[in-house]
Amino acid sequence: MRILVTGGAGFIGSALVRYLVSEVGAEVLNVDKLTYAGNLASLKVIENAPNYRFLQADITDRAAMSEALASFKPDRIMHLAAESHVDRSITGAGEFVHTNVVGTFTLLEAARHYWSELPAAEKEAFRFLHVSTDEVYGSLGEDGLFEEVTPYDPSSPYSASKAASDHLVVAWHRTYGLPVVVSNCSNNYGPYHFPEKLIPLTILNALEGRTLPVYGNGANIRDWLYVEDHARALHLIASNGRLGEKYNVGGRNERRNIEVVRRICDLMDELAPKATSHHDLITFVTDRPGHDARYAIDATKLETELGWKARETFDTGIANTVKWYLDNAWWWQPLREKVYVGERLGIIEKA
Ligand code: NAD
Repeated sequence: MRILVTGGAGFIGSALVRYLVSEVGAEVLNVDKLTYAGNLASLKVIENAPNYRFLQADITDRAAMSEALASFKPDRIMHLAAESHVDRSITGAGEFVHTNVVGTFTLLEAARHYWSELPAAEKEAFRFLHVSTDEVYGSLGEDGLFEEVTPYDPSSPYSASKAASDHLVVAWHRTYGLPVVVSNCSNNYGPYHFPEKLIPLTILNALEGRTLPVYGNGANIRDWLYVEDHARALHLIASNGRLGEKYNVGGRNERRNIEVVRRICDLMDELAPKATSHHDLITFVTDRPGHDARYAIDATKLETELGWKARETFDTGIANTVKWYLDNAWWWQPLREKVYVGERLGIIEKA
């Protein structure tokens, strides 16, 4: 199997590439622009594998995408490249529209032309998996779950740009017959997560004795999924998902943000004790505009149709994650030193 993965140097993309290269044994071409979020250090364990190669390229560059397809000749595309951080989308929406909407359109067009010229049997077997988020569904009240038929109602520039890209992908199936599948997943966490996101930021700020910022009163609910469970789901959906269909991916692990932060503090008190408890570092900060109250995924379709089940519970996954950050300063230290995340988050720009 030959798989072209876009965004394979990012958080989820690198987990997927590690899984495909070492456990599935697929031939993988990782196409990534290496923005601030792309990090080849996340692929160190497989970088010399004979079935892995890397191409630095931009998905908005049509010629580069067509060339990558023509030379690598994949029988599957798994599209993860995106601008992905909601806070950044609020201050700089243009990049999100460009990468997530124009980039997906450009890749779809390159894929359509490549696919249309394949011999019949290869054309039949070809798949384009578009990896998206549950944030396209907007916000839930206290009850209910996002289902595949839930109407789209995005709140942030990030989720609006992902919603637009999902619509393009489905339209390319209905209009041109491109064999696509779409996945919509809840919040991921785990090793190699960029230190601006809630869970790694909390772990690393706690380790350094900095404040632990929590938006509003911390009551917003997210449905957390361990990143390696997501990678397995993506391979399953790309392999066995029905064409033109969507599959929701989620671990049935709803937690309030404050509960997540408190659990990390408990683990840090146990694994990296300080004179005072890490709980004392929690600081509530002004809420994010348009902050969705609750996300929760109904993954029944994926579980019953494709037989997927998350292996990690939130308790096992978060313990693995905290231990991983404590043991892998070589990976996060350079990012922490270089990247400006904002004074609000308690990090001073050094680069
Ligand atoms: P990430 O920000 O960690 O990684 C994105 C990757 O895409 C980076 O390696 C970056 O260099 C690359 N990239 C960005 N622009 C590019 C371009 N123009 N051309 C080529 N490469 C480019 O993101 P992530 O958290 O790994 O998310 C991956 C995908 O999964 C995204 O599409 C995101 O919307 C989706 N998703 C993320 C989550 C989550 O919790 N992180 C949940 C559900 C879905």
